[in-house]
Amino acid sequence: MSHAATGGEPRAMRTAGVHHITALAGDPQANVDFYAGVLGLRLVKVTVNFDAPDIYHFYFGDETGKPGTAMTFFPSPGAPRGRVGGGQVGRATFAVPPGTLDFWSDRLAKFGVATAREHRFGETCLQFADPDGLPLELVARLEGPPSTWSFGGVPADKAIKGLGGAVLYSRAPEHTVDLLEHLLGLERETVSDDGRYVRLRARGHLGQVIDVCTQAVPAGASGAGTVHHIAWRAATQAEQEAWRRQVAAMGLDVTPAVDRKYFTSIYFRERGGILFEIATDGPGFTVDEPVEALGRELMLPPWLEPYRERVVANLQPFTVRVLEGDQT
Ligand code: ZN
Repeated sequence: MSHAATGGEPRAMRTAGVHHITALAGDPQANVDFYAGVLGLRLVKVTVNFDAPDIYHFYFGDETGKPGTAMTFFPSPGAPRGRVGGGQVGRATFAVPPGTLDFWSDRLAKFGVATAREHRFGETCLQFADPDGLPLELVARLEGPPSTWSFGGVPADKAIKGLGGAVLYSRAPEHTVDLLEHLLGLERETVSDDGRYVRLRARGHLGQVIDVCTQAVPAGASGAGTVHHIAWRAATQAEQEAWRRQVAAMGLDVTPAVDRKYFTSIYFRERGGILFEIATDGPGFTVDEPVEALGRELMLPPWLEPYRERVVANLQPFTVRVLEGDQT
C-alpha cells in the first residue's frame, strides 16, 4: 500500500509494541484496589499528571514497569464517566501465563467482577471491566517473560506478564491499519473469520498484538473509564525523532519531544481519531527510586518539587493494600 505514508523512505523502523496505555479513572483508592489488589500488578510509580498536577498519575506494571507492561491512570475523584467508542482504544489486553484463565475467572468472580469469554483469532479472551467501566481482557500467551511479582492472592506463576496489546476502535479503520503497518512497522497478519477485526503484530514479546475493529465505531466521549492514549515503543530518542519527522511529513500535527522523566514522548492524533504517543524505552522507572522502593512515595519532576506541599494538599491519600478477600 502507501509507502507515501513514510515519505517514500525505506521501512526501517519497527516498534517493539505498546509501551503503555493511559486511561482516565475516578476514585484513586478504587483504582489502586483494582489494579494492585485484584489484578496483582505492581504500582511502580506514583506521580502527578505533569500537565495537570492536581491529579495523580499512577503507573502499574510488572516488578520494574518495563516497557510493554505499564497500564497508567489519571484518577480524579468524582470524574464523570466517558463513553467508550470510536477514536479510542476500545479494550486493553493483558497477557497471562497459559493455563491460568480459570484461576483468573474464579478470582474475578470472588471480587464480584463479571466476566465473559470472547474468542478471537483462536484465542480465548476473558473480558471484564474495571470499577470505572474501562473494558479489559486477559489472554493466555506463551510469549513474554513470566512475572517476578506476586501480590495478595496472585502468585507470580499466575500473574499478569504485561500488556498483550489492545483492541482499537478507529473512526477510520483503514487509515489506522495503514499507519500501524507503514509508520510503526507492525505486520498485518489476518482478518477474523467474521470480518470484524484485522490483527497486526509488532516484533516484541509483550504489547505486540493489536486488533483493529474493521467497522468504523461511533465516536466515544472522554471521561472516567475510557483510554486517553496509547503509547508505542521507540528504542532510542534518535528513533523517536525520526518518527516525529515522518509523522509531520504525513501532514499530522505532532508535538516536539516532551520530557516525561521516565521516558520522552511525542504525541499525535492519527486519522482514526486515536491519540498516539511514541515513548522511549529509557530511562525507566528506576531513574528516581530503587527497584525495591518503586511506587512507595509520591515522586515529582524537578520543576514541581518546589510546590510539593501545595501539590500534596490537592491529592486524596490512598494505600496499596491486600484486599479482605485475600486475607486468610
Ligand atoms: Zn503516555
